[in-house]
Order: sequence, then structure tokens, then C-alpha cells
Amino acid sequence: MAYDPDNIFAKMLKGEIPCHKIYEDENTLAFLDIMPRSEGHTLVIPKAETENLFDVSPDVLAKTMAVVQTLAPKIRDAAGADGVLIQQFNGAAAGQTVFHLHFHIVPRKEGVDLKP
Ligand code: 5GP
Repeated sequence: MAYDPDNIFAKMLKGEIPCHKIYEDENTLAFLDIMPRSEGHTLVIPKAETENLFDVSPDVLAKTMAVVQTLAPKIRDAAGADGVLIQQFNGAAAGQTVFHLHFHIVPRKEGVDLKP
């Protein structure tokens, strides 16, 4: 599938759709998920036009993952959580619904189930 430059995250990057930004640098944007599965549920995306793991360059992937690694403990602590789930889907069959690469950072608390 070709990258769709009008996907919802591309529109956020262009400033056409608002988002609750929690981090930004020249390569990466992180913002709160609109339907959080727990308090603090965050999405980290590269600014590069890339759909998922199947087309991302190693350089973009490394920069994006570095931000995931930096933000994960900060989000855990800000949410008062005990750990974080990192989740990422590739292709509609795997559950991907927005076709711009993104990593979920989902704070988890002991004994608390995720929202569906
Ligand atoms: P996935 O493609 O990983 O299955 O899910 C895409 C994620 O993007 C979902 O968790 C969904 O709630 C989130 N999402 C979809 N549209 C928007 C939006 O307009 N704003 C924000 N902040 N998150 C969105």
C-alpha cells in the first residue's frame, strides 16, 4: 500500500488537526491517544512519511525508538504507573488503523486492566 499523505497523523504533522503534544523534535512527535487505554496513553510517531515497520528506514526507526525509550519512564512516572506496554501494529490484518508508523506507550498499574 502506498503511503497516504492525508492520513490522520500526517494531518497532525501538518498542523491541520490538533493533538495534545507531549514531545517534539525535528524527527519525532509524541501526543496523547484520543481513546486512551489507560491514563497517559501516548503515541510516538516519526515525522517521515512511513506506514509501518515494513517501509521504515533503519535510521528513522532508530530515532523513533530512542524517543520511545526516553519517554517511557517519564510517562510511567507521570501516570503513577508501575510499568509500560509498548505496542505497534503492522497492516490492517494485525490491527493497524492509522497508516503512519506509530508506537503506543501504555502505562500499566499493578492489578488494573486496560480499557478496551
Ligand atoms: P492502531 O493503528 O495502532 O491500531 O491505532 C491507532 C491509534 O490512534 C488508536 O489508539 C486511536 O485511538 C488513535 N487515534 C486515532 N485517531 C486519532 C486522533 O485523531 N487523535 C489522536 N490523538 N489519536 C487518534
